[in-house]
Formats: sequence, C-alpha cells, structure tokens
Amino acid sequence: MKSHYRVVVIGGGVVGASVLYHLAKFGWSDVALIERKILTAGSSWHAAGGFHALNADPNIAALQAYTIDLLSEVEKESGQSIGMHMTGGLIMASTPDRWEWLQSAYRVFQSIGIDDCRLVTPEEAGELNPLMSTHGMIGGMWADREGHVDTTGTVHAYAGAAKKRGAEVIENNRVLELNETAEGWEIVTEKGTIHAEHVVNAAGLWAKQVGRMAGIELPVSPLNHHYLITDTIPELESHDTMLPLTTDLEGFTYTRQDQKGMLVGIYEINHEHWMMDGAPWEYGFELQQEDPDRIEHELTLGFERYPSIQDVGIKTWVNGAFTFSPDGNPLVGPVRGKKNYWCACAVMAGFLQGGGVGKALAEWIIHGEPEEDVFGMDVARYGDYAGNKRYIKETTGQFYSRRFVMTYPNEQLPAGRPMKMAAAHDAMTVAGCTWGVSYGLEVPLMFGPEGFAETPSLKRSNAHDIVAEECKAVREACGLVGL
Ligand SMILES: Cc1cc2nc3c(=O)[nH]c(=O)nc-3n(C[C@H](O)[C@H](O)[C@H](O)COP(=O)(O)OP(=O)(O)OC[C@H]3O[C@@H](n4cnc5c(N)ncnc54)[C@H](O)[C@@H]3O)c2cc1C
Repeated sequence: MKSHYRVVVIGGGVVGASVLYHLAKFGWSDVALIERKILTAGSSWHAAGGFHALNADPNIAALQAYTIDLLSEVEKESGQSIGMHMTGGLIMASTPDRWEWLQSAYRVFQSIGIDDCRLVTPEEAGELNPLMSTHGMIGGMWADREGHVDTTGTVHAYAGAAKKRGAEVIENNRVLELNETAEGWEIVTEKGTIHAEHVVNAAGLWAKQVGRMAGIELPVSPLNHHYLITDTIPELESHDTMLPLTTDLEGFTYTRQDQKGMLVGIYEINHEHWMMDGAPWEYGFELQQEDPDRIEHELTLGFERYPSIQDVGIKTWVNGAFTFSPDGNPLVGPVRGKKNYWCACAVMAGFLQGGGVGKALAEWIIHGEPEEDVFGMDVARYGDYAGNKRYIKETTGQFYSRRFVMTYPNEQLPAGRPMKMAAAHDAMTVAGCTWGVSYGLEVPLMFGPEGFAETPSLKRSNAHDIVAEECKAVREACGLVGL
C-alpha cells in the first residue's frame, strides 16, 4: 500500500471492482481499491448472479446492455472464469395493461439498439421454458442476451483485469475515517493513512456509514431478499439445454436453473428493512434466517407457476440484504459540496448494472462528465430532504414491494409524502387540487370536482377533460402555474 493514490475506491464488491477496472482501463492506473475484509464480502457473494434486458428507464436499459456485453470481455482480459451461462431470458405478462407495457418497452428497446429481443406468445414461452405453466399468461418478451454468472468469479475478474492494468487491491483493511484536505481526501485505514485526490464510496451495505464519514446522509437502505434453490428436478436431468432466466411479473418471482434444480427468487410484497444505518462492521459472509411465512403468498404463486418444484425439496435458502435508493436506481456521481467525493452506491443489481455504473463514474471522474445520459442514476436527483429516515424507509420499502408491480405514467405514489408543502397547500386541497411531487415538494397537478381522483391508466385518463379545461382557460383568459 502506498501513501498516495490518485483515486481510492472504498469497497470490493462488484461495483467497486468495476469502478476500479474502468479507471484503469481509461488510463488512470494510480488507483487503489480498499476492502474491509476480502473481495465480495458484502452483498456480492450471495447474489443470484442473474442479468436481464428490461428496465423501465431506457437509459438504464442501455447501461445494462453495456454491462452484459462487457462481462465476457472482462473474463477474457483477466483470465478469471465468470461462470457465464447465456441462457436467454423470458419476461412474462399476465394482465392486459402489463402486456401493453411490455410491448411498448420492446419498441423502446428497438429504438435504442437493443435488438436481440422479440415478443412471444404464451405457447412459445412454454416451449422455451417447459417447466413453466403458462396458465393466465397473455404474452412475453424473449431476449437472447440474458442469463447468469458466478458472482464471486465476476468480482475477481473485474479486480484481476484492473490489477493487470496497474491498479492495486488492498484487502483486510477497513477505512475508518475520511477527512477533506486541500488536495482531496485523507483516508484513515486500519493499515495506515493514505492521501488521494478522489475518493469513491462503493461501500454497498455500508454506504450509509461511509457517507457519514464525509458528513453526507445518503438516501439508501438495505432490505432483505429471499431466494431458494431446489433439489434436483427429474425433468431437468434429461434436459440438455439450460432453462432460460424467467421473470413472472405478476407472480413476483424470477427463476433460473441451478445445476439440475431451480433457483426461485422472490420480490416480497411484505418487505423487510435491515440495518437502516448500515450493516455492522463485523458482518461478513452471513445471511439472515429465512422467513417463509413472510413470503407465503409469493411462494404459493411460484409453486403454482412451476409445478415440478412442488415435488422436490429445497436444498438452500438465501435471505440476504442489498441496498436500495428511494426510486430503486443507483446513486452515482459527485456529491454537492464535497469536492472529489464520488458515489457508486445503491446499485441494486450489481451484476447487471455494475459495468455501466463503473464506466459512467470513471468517465465522470476523468473527463468531468459521463458519455451517456445518466440522469436516472445521478445522486444529485435527491436533495437534503431525502436524508430523512422516514422518507428513506417509506420510499425504499415502496420501491421494493412494487419491484414487479406496474407503475402507470400518471400514477402518483404515496410513500414519503407530504414532505415540503406550499403555504396555500391546505386551501388548494379544499379547492380540489390533486398533488404530485417534485424534489420533495408537493406540486399542484390539477383542480378537479369534489371527490375526484385520477385513475392510473396507459390510455387517456379520466383527468383529460379537466386538464383540457385548465389549458383552455389559460390560453383564452389567464391562469397561475404553481411549480
Ligand atoms: C439474495 C440476493 C440476490 C441477488 N441477486 C442478484 C442478481 O441476480 N443479479 C444482480 O445483478 N444482483 C443481485 N443482487 C444484488 C447484488 O448483490 C448487489 O447489487 C451487489 O452485490 C452490490 O454490490 P456493491 O459492490 O455495491 O456492494 P457490496 O457487495 O455490499 O460491496 C461493498 C463492499 O464494501 C466493503 N466496505 C464497506 N465499508 C468499507 C470500509 N469502511 N472500508 C473498506 N471496505 C468497506 C464491504 O466489505 C463490501 O465488500 C442480489 C442480492 C441479494 C441479497
């Protein structure tokens, strides 16, 4: 370990390793990653390792596509196997609105160059995944470049490729303290003090504490997440291709083959936060006790969707934590008022998004801005208001529970509200105002008749005529716009 580096990355999970790799790849080799224990010792070791194409934000979908392409490149460069299984993947819709949404997502993908997807009927989907019952399904989307990787191998591949380009990885060395200096940051670690121009918080489950070391209250919290792996399923013993990664949106499950059994991951409606102030420092390769009662409803749906798993045992339970921001997208970029302090936190799908996050952040640090549009993951989309613990708890919980629930374009979600209100808020409410939210502030959307509520819809909503009247009034007479 040297006493000075250009950049110090704190955290040796998949995200920190990717940031390190990209910095070195883009020519900054005087960089080091500092890891509290050993590489992967946070969320990364126990992830299911799945990667898929779909994301509601096209820019995040593009970042995911970049990561998927990168994985094999990093494997080759490092010489470290990442256990790549490019099985292809299915995403299935079981309601008319979801099916319409999936078709529109497919068109967006085509327009941004993700062209390895196609829409499939339930019958085709049933042929592609013969263990899945297609009962009640309306349609789905198939993507060629979906599958899963070995999570530990992937982190080591990023780190190994970075080391080959001159970067350093220092393990068993917790960062204890961060102090701002004229040049950048003084980083006090268990093995001594280092100076760096830039510091990157890629501390995953501990991002909260590493933020607080610099006086920052990041809007991030860990939540627990379950998956199970079944014993051998007889149908799979004679099956020579691997089952595709399959997401049943209305069933709250994602699945993939694991050896000759199946891995079933569950997005729990009844979510559970874990260590909201960050994981304990001594926490290592541990998991939480599984809680089948909490996920009984989703489990039942999963067992109905994949009837073969009803007849085999469960080999392994995983109930582990990973971190979420209020809207579920990563928190990446420079932090206002803290020179050269960079975030690469709240990456809830590190194996899917870590490559893109690493690239964007390395470009930002080196060139002053990332090449792609990263607005959806810029940490600056949140202000100080988002440090409020109740806000973090409600919004991260809402995102988690709704991970597989469709949000309509005109839908206003309730968590963490109201936070900041105009002085005339109550009077406007009495006058029929319905409210949206922007940067923590309640903003008026429209004024409707008494008892009016807008119905979320993919089509023209029941608020159309009301808004049309308001627009007409402003055009032909006058009006006041509240922002
Ligand atoms: C059950 C489960 C299943 C999942 N399945 C998938 C999946 O299929 N696909 C997918 O893409 N993602 C999946 N995930 C999410 C994935 O695990 C995370 O997105 C990813 O691991 C986040 O990586 P990270 O590098 O941000 O954080 P972490 O892996 O938590 O790494 C942070 C690192 O920082 C180190 N650190 C913290 N503080 C300090 C300090 N002060 N000094 C030095 N080092 C420090 C820690 O020791 C740790 O190693 C899953 C998660 C869970 C829990």
